[in-house]
Amino acid sequence: MNKMLFRTLVVLMSLSLIGIIAVQVYWVKYSLEQSQEQFKYQVKQVIGNVSDRLEQNEMNAFLSQYNKLKDSVGGPVSERDLIAFNYQQINLKTNEAILYFNTITSQDYNIDLSFFDKNADSIPVKTYRSSSRTEIYRQNNFKDFPNSSADNTPDEVIEQEGELSLLQKAQFEISLKNIASLQPIQNRISVEELRNLLTEQFKNYGINTPFEFAVYSNDLATKIKSEKFRYNKDQTYSIPVFDNYENSKNKIDLLVSFPQKDRYLFSEIIGITVLSLIFTLIIIIAYISALSQSIKQRKISEIKTDFINNMTHEFKTPIATINLALDAMKNPKVREDEDRAARYLQMIREENKRMHAQVENVLRISKLEKKEVDIEKEPEDITVLLDNAIEHIRLIVENREGSINKHYEATRTTVLLNDVYMTGVLINILDNAVKYSLEAPVIDVYTENIKDFILIKIKDKGIGMSKTAQKRAFEKFYREHTGDIHNVKGHGLGLSYVKTIIEDHNGQVFVESEKGKGSTFIIKLPLIN
Ligand code: ADP
Repeated sequence: MNKMLFRTLVVLMSLSLIGIIAVQVYWVKYSLEQSQEQFKYQVKQVIGNVSDRLEQNEMNAFLSQYNKLKDSVGGPVSERDLIAFNYQQINLKTNEAILYFNTITSQDYNIDLSFFDKNADSIPVKTYRSSSRTEIYRQNNFKDFPNSSADNTPDEVIEQEGELSLLQKAQFEISLKNIASLQPIQNRISVEELRNLLTEQFKNYGINTPFEFAVYSNDLATKIKSEKFRYNKDQTYSIPVFDNYENSKNKIDLLVSFPQKDRYLFSEIIGITVLSLIFTLIIIIAYISALSQSIKQRKISEIKTDFINNMTHEFKTPIATINLALDAMKNPKVREDEDRAARYLQMIREENKRMHAQVENVLRISKLEKKEVDIEKEPEDITVLLDNAIEHIRLIVENREGSINKHYEATRTTVLLNDVYMTGVLINILDNAVKYSLEAPVIDVYTENIKDFILIKIKDKGIGMSKTAQKRAFEKFYREHTGDIHNVKGHGLGLSYVKTIIEDHNGQVFVESEKGKGSTFIIKLPLIN
């Protein structure tokens, strides 16, 4: 995949991921708003019902008291006709007539109101009655109508009489509201009654969160309220109760508040929100790991290409040298000169050895990684190996006018090890100390015992390493790609080899370094004596 396509894909995927997250956030917000609206609607309905029920209850109580009183008062104080309504229908062909009379009478009662209010006297209360009479006159029985109907006897009479309930009800309501509005609110509603009504209604509507309530009169709190009621604009809903259109001065409101409203509303959508959150999270994690994997793969493939280029380059010189030597050997004159021939052969052998060593190195590491080799170990004095390794590089160090100094302090030095592999490890680190010292290499080698371990420190005053390089130096193929280091040859395999071998010996290896000042590699191995 080329770089451009990869980038475009990453950008597109990131954008759509952001889009998905934005949609999720919007959706959660929208559902919360919806459930808030629905909650408000239901609460308004509940408190509306409660308000109606309160009024109804008050009315019923009043009515039963009123009827009792009215009966005890006896007959009306006065009675008079309000409206008389007469209607007649005559069929001249059949000589049949229908006469309809309707009268509405009002009766005045004086009702003693001291049961409502001790200070009140009696008030005149009206009841309305309606009486109707229908007379039917048939043929022959009805003469000279309409002039002398009074003398005739009707063939049929239908009479109806009764209370005019609609009018009476309206009059009641008005009277009740007027009387009741004079009462202190605690005489009209009890906290218990209100609590029970609200509880019952909220249960019916499936609203399952604690509530507090209060009755306010002209926007001031009254004694009718639950203990923990606190006014809070966001959590409180109100509705007027005992709405008295005659007496708008006394405004009474029922307020209900939900201290845990937000939590309740959130709990309604929490399940689906958590699910969507989990899925979004899975998408994000999967996306990030896919991205990091693919970046890693790209890096590895870059490193491998680098490695192959390096190796080819490394092989080029010996192959060219061998070619030259072989060409020379073709010449019979050279072959005759035994000294020269021997030199060329030696050259070929050396170059071959170099290539072999190179190939061996790579193969050994891959074998080690696959755990295909079992490294045999014996108890040996590690300082002997250290001395050997130092001797191996001493010539190069001295050639470059450097120095290598030993500071052996460890008294116990026997370690269970494989001398070939361990020598390789020490040479690798010492080689690096020389390689990465641009000026004359100054190398110090320390040993010391800590508990049952021996610590070997190889310290150089070379170019040092960045923090990232220190962290990654032991990774396979890792090379610090900065400035001067490009000039130093290598494949980034040495330290990876070191780490694999040391860990196989149950030890540890780490590096302390400062850019420009030098590095110290520390090997920690368990002792056996
Ligand atoms: P290389 O073949 O590149 O030397 P190594 O695995 O031996 O590979 O080292 C990995 C990297 O660690 C090197 O490329 C270099 O950047 C850094 N490094 C190793 N030893 C030293 C040192 N003594 N001083 C500074 N940098 C070092």
